[in-house]
Amino acid sequence: MAGRLCLIKSVLSATPLYYLSLFKAPEVVCKSIISIQRRFLWGWGKEKMFISWVSWRDLCRTKEEGGLGIKDIRKFNYALMAKWMWRYSFDEKGRWKEVIESKYGLGINSDSVPIKYQSWWWRDLTSIYREGGGDGWFQDEVGWRIGSGDKIRFWEDVWVGNSKLKTLFPRLYSLSLNQGHKLEEVGEWEGSIWKWSLRWRRGRFEWETSIEAELEGLIARVKVKKDEKDALEWRSEANGCFTVSSAYECLVSATRGPQIDFFKHLWKTKTFPNVMFTAWRVLLNRIPTRMCLRRRGVLLDTYVCALCELKEESCQHLFLECKVASRVWDLCLRWIGILYVQHNDVRNHFESFMLTQGSNEQNQIWKGVWATIIWCLWNHRN
Ligand SMILES: [Zn+2]
Repeated sequence: MAGRLCLIKSVLSATPLYYLSLFKAPEVVCKSIISIQRRFLWGWGKEKMFISWVSWRDLCRTKEEGGLGIKDIRKFNYALMAKWMWRYSFDEKGRWKEVIESKYGLGINSDSVPIKYQSWWWRDLTSIYREGGGDGWFQDEVGWRIGSGDKIRFWEDVWVGNSKLKTLFPRLYSLSLNQGHKLEEVGEWEGSIWKWSLRWRRGRFEWETSIEAELEGLIARVKVKKDEKDALEWRSEANGCFTVSSAYECLVSATRGPQIDFFKHLWKTKTFPNVMFTAWRVLLNRIPTRMCLRRRGVLLDTYVCALCELKEESCQHLFLECKVASRVWDLCLRWIGILYVQHNDVRNHFESFMLTQGSNEQNQIWKGVWATIIWCLWNHRN
């Protein structure tokens, strides 16, 4: 299974990369790609029948959350397409940009061209851009690095805090004579010191002056730099440059669950990948023991344990309580010379399987021993 996962990540997710980075994939294409990947993951090997033991949504979670870190193809498609939006907003020049600008007007946010005259590619791109409500997820991730104020619009762009000033101060915005002005037009240099000078339609009422003071306090903290140009930056990366992986992370962050300790420990164990995969399935209780098969409606002649033929074959019985298993655990603990209270729950058993005096690395090896015993028991049972 470890090999198949590797192939899914390196081949099946990478093959459609070229198309996914250019076009928004239709729903049916995404479903087909997922179906191919799912069949490849679960439909091979010793398990003759095709059962998806873990939902695809859970497999797309990170390993620390209990998944396998497979890419969600739809969101990955969006992240790849977002690169075009980034290049459109960030690249100053480019023939392709000139063509798009001349055809569609002012820019990606512009609605100046009626939808019926827009190409389907452009429509797809803007729909991805606006995904997530409000100004869209992409806009939320783009910020400004303030230079001389030659590009940033004072009221209409997000450059101080996380909101536009016109949204924060709607009353003042309606009074302002600086609507649509760039920062460099809303102040001036006095020697080496930048002074803001906002202009208003009329004097402010008394209750408005406190809001004005709040605005002045907010913008006073911002440093305008004389010799630098304003530049867009991608907030999720320290260097401000867009990357597909950080865009993907933004898109999936809303659905991220908490990290689970025993999965974190499992993937750090020092053992072979296929051993870890078997242990992962056992910890999730998603391995074809006879009880699990019965729950999924598979008809078998018998549901008792294949090793002792005394009790129903559940994960808990097969790997912990069965006389064969408990003898193995017993021998293993005697070998290392420790006394240990055995838990009846697989997850608790794994969690408590540690050397209290041991170093981090020793425990990683020790947990690897746990996973290997599980793997051996499973192979022995088969
Ligand atoms: Zn048994």
